[in-house]
Amino acid sequence: MILDVKNLTKTFEKNNTLFTAVDNINFQLDKKECLGIVGESGSGKSTIAKMLVKLIEPDNGEIHFLGKDLVTINKSELRKTRKDIQMIFQNPMDSFDPRYHLLSSVQQGLRYVEKCDKRELERRAQEAISFVGLKESYYKKPIHQLSGGECQRAAIARAIIGQPKLLICDEATSALDVSVQAQIISLLKKLKQEKGMSSLFITHDLTLASVMCDRLAVMYCGKIVEY
Ligand code: ADP
Repeated sequence: MILDVKNLTKTFEKNNTLFTAVDNINFQLDKKECLGIVGESGSGKSTIAKMLVKLIEPDNGEIHFLGKDLVTINKSELRKTRKDIQMIFQNPMDSFDPRYHLLSSVQQGLRYVEKCDKRELERRAQEAISFVGLKESYYKKPIHQLSGGECQRAAIARAIIGQPKLLICDEATSALDVSVQAQIISLLKKLKQEKGMSSLFITHDLTLASVMCDRLAVMYCGKIVEY
């Protein structure tokens, strides 16, 4: 097992009242498994993802990742774990610095999490870019000149450059048109098959999730109501 989430809970304040966005959630994820988290908008899916990558702190619960509880882990241990959990989002363009071209944007995924020299950094970025199917002629292209699908490929390259053990995809194909969506789905499947990566696939689209995932958890009002 790679991930074991226990009693995860998050409460927000809305219009001066508290409401529970994620309500005592439990789930596990095996090595090489893709778990889909599906549910209507507002059911709490992204809040779970954000807690897993520590963008927000849970009010209660445990997140055991490869045996360590990410909720109570100290800062130096967290830094070591950082590169093992990566996330891709719906609008990848927003997460890139527009000053960088493709090659240096992808390098950012490794720069602060692993010590390696300039040549090695460049080699690994080139390898990741080739894996996601972007050509060498794109290396020096500014990110904003890429199409939506190419930009999502670039985001995937940046996420996988450090060989993470868990990839969280939060509505990662929702903004793309159907044919591009299909290409990104087959790329994500290739990642699982060739790199043995575990993934959490968060979406409101049940059909897409059933194509992509080994198992589905259905959320409603902050709870997992069905597998
Ligand atoms: P989903 O990903 O399923 O669409 P979210 O996890 O984004 O759902 O949101 C669940 C609920 O929590 C929604 O009602 C949303 O408005 C609310 N919410 C999310 N983040 C915050 C926040 N930072 N402050 C207040 N409410 C939030």
